Amino acid sequence: MIKRRLWIPCSTEEDPKQKMLWSASRIVTNLKAENCPYCSDSKLRFYYHEFEVLKPSRRGTLWVWCNNCNHWLHISGVKLEANVRYVRTKSDQEIAECEKKHRLLDTLNYFWENETIPHEFCLE
Ligand SMILES: [Zn+2]
Repeated sequence: MIKRRLWIPCSTEEDPKQKMLWSASRIVTNLKAENCPYCSDSKLRFYYHEFEVLKPSRRGTLWVWCNNCNHWLHISGVKLEANVRYVRTKSDQEIAECEKKHRLLDTLNYFWENETIPHEFCLE
């Protein structure tokens, strides 16, 4: 059973200094997790997905969230360097299903804890 939580979106109102946006950008640039800009106690978790419908472009969507304070953000149009891969373990459909049920963050966090999504990017 996946636990339901109250996730806090980092909208412009919640995050006027766009701290989460900067952290998310650094994750895809430095290819490693960052501490949460809100609670700083916890490493941010993330999930990157390239939707088939956008192929052959490699632009993807990145979700980042904090397991400790529940802040989260997603950014789309993320372009990884050509030599960077993120092993795809979930289909577009699986992601769309979770979004439809408004359970995406709960589910991504569950996937993270059960290691069914990668915890890192890899270089070719
Ligand atoms: Zn946090």
